[in-house]
Amino acid sequence: LNRRLAEFGTTIFAEMSALAVRTGSINLGQGFPDTDGPEEIREAAVRALRDGRGNQYPPGPGVPELRTAIAAHQERRYGLTYDPDTEVLVTAGATEAIAAALLALLEPGDEVIALEPYYDSYAACIAMAGGTRVPVTLRPYEGARDGVAYRHFRLDLDELRDAVTDRTRLLLINTPHNPTGTVLTREELTAIAELAVERDLLVVTDEVYEHLVFDDAGHLPLATFPGMRERTVTIGSAGKTFSFTGWKVGWVTAPRELVSAVRSAKQFLTYVASGPFQYAVAEALHLPDSYFADFRADMLAKRDLLASGLERAGFKVFRPAGTYFITTDIRPLGESDGFAFCRSLPERCGVVAIPNAVFYDHREQGAPFVRFAFCKRTGVLEEAASRLKTLA
Ligand code: PMP
Ligand code: GLN
Repeated sequence: LNRRLAEFGTTIFAEMSALAVRTGSINLGQGFPDTDGPEEIREAAVRALRDGRGNQYPPGPGVPELRTAIAAHQERRYGLTYDPDTEVLVTAGATEAIAAALLALLEPGDEVIALEPYYDSYAACIAMAGGTRVPVTLRPYEGARDGVAYRHFRLDLDELRDAVTDRTRLLLINTPHNPTGTVLTREELTAIAELAVERDLLVVTDEVYEHLVFDDAGHLPLATFPGMRERTVTIGSAGKTFSFTGWKVGWVTAPRELVSAVRSAKQFLTYVASGPFQYAVAEALHLPDSYFADFRADMLAKRDLLASGLERAGFKVFRPAGTYFITTDIRPLGESDGFAFCRSLPERCGVVAIPNAVFYDHREQGAPFVRFAFCKRTGVLEEAASRLKTLA
């Protein structure tokens, strides 16, 4: 293994999912739903397979039906217009979109600012592209809102501004944010946009959890802010929005030159992927608003179920405004090392979780935090909560 990749080892998701299987534990580690997406969309995939649509190499940018549906979704939801022929690119999941964007846009030595903790592929892809990552740490914050205790991880805008140097090429943003569940606010996004414009930076924004925002949080795409559309590569994924993580259908929307650059890299990564599934996802993107509302309501109920269970078990809970992850602090349980905690948890109570430290360069900052996924059936979450209660 070369020096660029040596530090990354095996992804924590593979390690922890294997541990779950080996120990027969409930897997609240890797983020994937235990219920597949809509029946009618599965049927659409079967129809495409049967009718011979997508069984051979689809077009490089993605099938026209899907590109049109992605553009229509961005317009209907956010008022963002993209030309389906030149400003939309279908990728093998958001994972390939991230890789292709970084490989296409970075010169060796360019600095990339990423919000820490960050999704693990960011660091590896920045390294593969020869870039240098510059983490800006989201800090735990406890306050009150409307008289109710409120905890979340917060971006320090001064730290963000101070992180920009003459070598900064790109801001890599993620909202709603994995693993903390933070949803960046209008004020934070405005400041990020102003900084990008002032310093003439590109922005790659990973918005795969765009439909998973709760309470009074709302998802605001960075590309909608002044001066941003022209410099922003936005990434989405059918895996998260429609609960088909195995289909690996993701996408990029951006101005023509940026899409063209990302496509230059993408053509040598997978060339194309997921032929028949692309047709099915095109149908999914046209589902009525009620699909998205029901999906969100269902996940909100699951969030509250698991959050309450974790609280009863003695964890300090950061109730997320978005995503399907809950970050917890394990110190009230008398623990301080999330890695050791997660490695022993299956044996202690038959549950698997992810140590947030893997998402940090400053590992010590992430040490006491542990992430649980709640995209699971109610009975599974109840069982997990009752197992975790035995820790208290
Ligand atoms: N970005 C984030 C923030 C994620 O959490 C994930 C996976 N859960 C991805 C990208 C990858 O998405 P995909 O499965 O579409 O490759
Ligand atoms: N994104 C998912 C998570 O954060 C897992 C993706 C993966 O396994 N690579 O859990």
